[in-house]
Amino acid sequence: MYSQPKIDIREVVNLLGLKVDPKCSINSDTFNVQCPFCRDKKYHMNINAEKNVYSCVLCSKEKGQGALDLYSRVVHGERCVKGQNSKKIFMELCDALHLGGPSERKTEVKERPSLPRILRADDDTVGKTYAALLAFEPLALTEQHRENLKRRGFSDETIDRNEYRSLGQNYDWLGEYSDSRSLYRRLRSAIKENKKLRHKREDEIVAGLALAQHLLKLGCTLAGVPGFYKIGDSWSFNITPGMLVPTRNMKGQVVALQVRRDKPENWETKNKDRKFLRYMTVSSKGLPAGVTEGISRAHFPLANPPLSKDVHVCVTEGPLKADAASELLGSDAKVFFIALHGTMNTKELPGFFKLCKEKGIERIENAFDMDKTTNFHVAEAGKGVWKKAKAAGLSVAVRCWDEDFAKKKYRELGILCANHDIFVPTSLNVFVDVAAMARALEAAGVEHSVETLPDGTEVKHYWDDATKGIDDYLLTQKQQKTNS
Ligand SMILES: [Zn+2]
Repeated sequence: MYSQPKIDIREVVNLLGLKVDPKCSINSDTFNVQCPFCRDKKYHMNINAEKNVYSCVLCSKEKGQGALDLYSRVVHGERCVKGQNSKKIFMELCDALHLGGPSERKTEVKERPSLPRILRADDDTVGKTYAALLAFEPLALTEQHRENLKRRGFSDETIDRNEYRSLGQNYDWLGEYSDSRSLYRRLRSAIKENKKLRHKREDEIVAGLALAQHLLKLGCTLAGVPGFYKIGDSWSFNITPGMLVPTRNMKGQVVALQVRRDKPENWETKNKDRKFLRYMTVSSKGLPAGVTEGISRAHFPLANPPLSKDVHVCVTEGPLKADAASELLGSDAKVFFIALHGTMNTKELPGFFKLCKEKGIERIENAFDMDKTTNFHVAEAGKGVWKKAKAAGLSVAVRCWDEDFAKKKYRELGILCANHDIFVPTSLNVFVDVAAMARALEAAGVEHSVETLPDGTEVKHYWDDATKGIDDYLLTQKQQKTNS
């Protein structure tokens, strides 16, 4: 029987960092937390893990609402409505919690796994293991992935220096790892018993076993390293096919890995309106011995200049985006990037901002995608980042680009405002004006940036996709220069 996949509300409580009443335990069936919606100083929100719902004595009028709703209201400021935004919220949460998509979760219902915490190893250990992983010959970058990177503006030198790799592209090399194949056969019954493993392709698991055995022979530690897990007594690596993108700490050590997933053929026709999750952080959370904490990390491109008061510090989302932007800007621009795995993954920011302050930096720049100016929900999601900056005594500037598109948007929103008698004072800055108009329209409940396609479906068009990300914009500029 098919059942809706379920997200444990306690994982959402964890993710959102809600304060749990010290008198309670997050592992019990019901416990209280500080309500994020009213000015709750005590612990008025009850979490019922058995029913997977929350409700606040002070502000919840209706009966308990679910995990998706809790996440949606905190992160996007909007309710989760089935059939409207629930799929999107669900996919987003799967990504934030490092859970597989619905196909991998279909069978996971009812039982509530308790949340045993498995901590990650320190950066030296993780960095050493990942360095050896990236040096594993069968993961060499494919020509196809190299071409993709070149189209983004990377040079061969940078591609090699940044150590991008290809994962799960072919398994021809497994012929040399017959030990792993026999190991797989021995472990087959344990694999079939595990709900997360039983749907995986045999070659994928054999390759994971081969990689793990290779790293163990080199003396690497696998316990506490995200992506590695145990089948019986044997270590394996959780393979997601795609391009591997290293996430590096400020010392340049690889401390996390992201996969830019290959889109399966015919995805669109097979998966109507299901969002394809392009980037996934390599993780083995929920698999035996898999790390549960600290999987996502902030990324610092190798091309960053030294952190000093003479550089522009830009906060963005996505390691590959930051790498590409660094490459396209060149070293003369003196831009220092820190890239988050997602706007929710802000744990490292207070420490980083403190360091900025110590280096004499007064201001950081919001370099998130340009829909931050026109999409209220995107702006809301980024708020946590800027609060942390302000708490550290830093001011925040919004970095904007593509003035041509902004002018187009200005005219489009201007007409809407005029039609609804909404008056927005203008400044001398078109980006500021566009943002102000978008906010005013939102406040008045007027929908904007909706485009109706020839077939009648509506799409939200907050910003030109070709220049939305800072890397996209820099690339279009470079192409214009070479063309003229
Ligand atoms: Zn409340």
